[in-house]
Amino acid sequence: MTDLAIAAQDVGRVYPSDSGDVHALRDVSFAVERGRFVALRGRSGSGKTTLLNCVGGLDKPSSGRIWIQGMDIATLDEAERTRWRRENIGFVFQQMGLLPSFSAYENLDLMARLGGLPRSERRDRILESLEMVDLLDYYDHRPYEMSGGQQQRIAIARGLVAEPDLILADEPTSELDSETTHKIMAVLNNFVSKKGTSILLSSHDPIVDEYVDRVITLVDGQIADGS
Ligand code: ADP
Ligand code: MG
Repeated sequence: MTDLAIAAQDVGRVYPSDSGDVHALRDVSFAVERGRFVALRGRSGSGKTTLLNCVGGLDKPSSGRIWIQGMDIATLDEAERTRWRRENIGFVFQQMGLLPSFSAYENLDLMARLGGLPRSERRDRILESLEMVDLLDYYDHRPYEMSGGQQQRIAIARGLVAEPDLILADEPTSELDSETTHKIMAVLNNFVSKKGTSILLSSHDPIVDEYVDRVITLVDGQIADGS
């Protein structure tokens, strides 16, 4: 069993375009140990989303390799990868929106089931997760009955609910004011220390730096420091 949650070696991702290839990532190498909370910082267009997509197996690097808990998920076929991802990774990604006809509770319940959480633990875990983001009172609200910031906190709770070994979060505090950002970052920091989860989270907000073990800075698709 490796003690690395993530290992990336010389990862490149090129998007072909008419005006020349876009090198979204170039020779990105870094490792995240288990139980660590790491922030990926960089301005818009620096490659944060591309890197998180590659780490989570939603996109494939054009070159290089990535191991999650010792497993190179590029070696799995599509069905195996989807299953592995559900059971091992919690995602807090904008493009994975909440289901609009489901209440907050039901949105978390769906993820708890997909993540393989035993039935006997689901209810407690869902309520605990809603409590963590301070939205227990909203358990029966649907997404459209909540503000953008509240929806984002529900999406964070959904990423934690199945207690995955690794959580990947793409700008999870973008809709939150700074006071709420502090609160949520403290919750995530506490979650990492209590459960031994690893979190890789992208942001361009300097507030996050206070709560993480390490900051990796991306500039134009390359690691500037922190690897
Ligand atoms: P960030 O998340 O840090 O804002 P992205 O990973 O979204 O950065 O983008 C990195 C670079 O890759 C940018 O130059 C962006 O325009 C380009 N890019 C991202 N996705 C695509 C795509 N699907 N097709 C072409 N170019 C893309
Ligand atoms: Mg992005």
